[in-house]
Amino acid sequence: MTSRLGRFRDLPLFYKLLVPFLLLMLVTGSVGALLIVHDQSTRAQAAVDESLSRRAVDTLSLMHDRELYLVESVSLAANLQGMSAAAAAKDGAQVDHLLTSVAALKQDLSSVVVTDDKGYPIGAYSRLRGTSSTVEPQLVAAALRRPAARAALLTRLDGHVVLAVAVAICADTPCRPTAAAVAAVDVTQLARRIAPPGPGGGSSTVTLFSAAGAPVAAAGSVRLASAPSVSSDIRRTQRTNIGEAATLYTPLVVQGQRVGTLGISIPTGSVSASVRSAALRFAAILFLAMVGVLAIGAYLSRSILRQVHPLVDTSRRLGAGDLTARAPVLGRDELGELAAGVNEMATELEASYATLEQRVIERTADVEQLLRERTDFFTGISHDFRTPLAVVLSQADMLLDPDIPKSPELARDAGRTVKESVTQLLARINDVLEIARAESGSLEIHLEPVRIDRVLGSLADTARTLELTSGVAVTFDVARSLAVVADEARLGQVVLNLLDNAVKYTPRGGEVRVTARADGDSVALRVADTGCGIPAEVGDRVFEPFYRVKGSKPQRQSPSSGLGLALTRRLVEAQQGEIRWEPNDDGGTTFVVTLQRVPAPRQRQSSGPDPATRTPRGAR
Ligand code: ADP
Repeated sequence: MTSRLGRFRDLPLFYKLLVPFLLLMLVTGSVGALLIVHDQSTRAQAAVDESLSRRAVDTLSLMHDRELYLVESVSLAANLQGMSAAAAAKDGAQVDHLLTSVAALKQDLSSVVVTDDKGYPIGAYSRLRGTSSTVEPQLVAAALRRPAARAALLTRLDGHVVLAVAVAICADTPCRPTAAAVAAVDVTQLARRIAPPGPGGGSSTVTLFSAAGAPVAAAGSVRLASAPSVSSDIRRTQRTNIGEAATLYTPLVVQGQRVGTLGISIPTGSVSASVRSAALRFAAILFLAMVGVLAIGAYLSRSILRQVHPLVDTSRRLGAGDLTARAPVLGRDELGELAAGVNEMATELEASYATLEQRVIERTADVEQLLRERTDFFTGISHDFRTPLAVVLSQADMLLDPDIPKSPELARDAGRTVKESVTQLLARINDVLEIARAESGSLEIHLEPVRIDRVLGSLADTARTLELTSGVAVTFDVARSLAVVADEARLGQVVLNLLDNAVKYTPRGGEVRVTARADGDSVALRVADTGCGIPAEVGDRVFEPFYRVKGSKPQRQSPSSGLGLALTRRLVEAQQGEIRWEPNDDGGTTFVVTLQRVPAPRQRQSSGPDPATRTPRGAR
């Protein structure tokens, strides 16, 4: 079952669409044909039965008429005046004479005979052409046995089979039977008379059978070989000389005596033929309908498949990586929508593939940049560490060299040099550690509202010292109430680094301004100088560890590590801020740190900002 289902599943769509359709047609068509043929044959059968019953009624009624005719005739013959005496005297001439008058009145009679009690004819009148013979003694005996009744029999008379009715002829009263009168009709004639007349009975056949079942006469075209022994009506359909015929067999009873069997037949071949032809017609219609369905189904399937095949091809090409593949949209139906959907999907795939490629290029550039930074970082570290270490080593060599005379001044200078180098080395190591901590997110930062004027106030002394040693004027300009979300110590470190750089790269006589201004929800803290500036193409690279702008030199003998801005950016970002630089009109540089603003208390807001411009001295 499953394998058959699997086989069906593997069939091409064309057959899948068509086969169930045809099967359904075949089943419904066959069941319909069977029902119709069955209905037709039932109707035909009923029509045959009805026709047969009608003809049987007509036939039996005519038979009854003939019976009465015979009874009348025989009674007339027996009771004719003078018949009793002539019969008793066995006066054949007189009897013949009397019977001639009976025959004149009863034209349909085949024969009328008066016999003695043994059945020998005394006188007779016969229209049958044949040798005159005795009447069946059994019939005469039966008539004489019951003078009040009549006896009937299918018998042979004058060489013919006849239906004969006999009655006793009485000599006295009460009756003393001396002879019998017998009236007979030829059965062939009888059959003709009782066959139903007119169009209704035209095609039927009436057959008379003897008591033994042998056919003795028939009117009609159907020839029956024998009759079954029946005690009541039975119906049979059998093959005959003219094909199939239905026959109703009924007992032939005359005057209460069973004398034989009556068969009424009608041919049914034409009915069967009409049923057969109806079935054939229906089969032909069914066949034509199936051919029509097959043609329509094939056309529909092909037209559907015409749209499906390009879709399959397109999806195959897309699957193989050809993102330019598109399916033709051949209509507005569901398949058209499907094709449009596939095309849309392919377009999006193509676009996202292009974006992906672009992203890969960008990420590759990022990775290359990171690798470069790493290399620069390690180059910077080794260089920056090597210099102070080399100084310390050379001083140690000098102190350990027994050939160099060590004066107290020399030893003091060497000690100072070693201390400076080690301090410098320690500062570098601390910077590197801080950067590493910031990178790993383990930098200790406590964010809280921090007033900027307080941070700058704590840097006033340092700023003053820088001012004195560099000859560069340092000014702070910040509103007293301005506060940001920050770590106070780390924010101080940030401002100090920027201030230190600004002073370092500004020639004597220049100026450095530190300002803070509210800007919506944030505060922009600016450190602007009138120094040597930074070329625009450097961009954000100034924030990379160990990056130094080519050609830029600190104005004085200030130490340069290339780590200051890298650490500053990480500290700013750790406080959820941003840092950037921009060139000034006078050639200097402004570093801008943006931090989240803490709103001032309400009463302070209503009294308006409280600007406080301070120099480092003022701050102090
Ligand atoms: P350094 O210790 O060398 O100053 P930084 O990381 O602080 O290292 O700065 C990196 C480089 O950026 C410096 O070497 C310098 O070339 C440039 N730079 C920093 N601040 C300024 C500034 N205010 N004016 C001009 N150049 C600057």
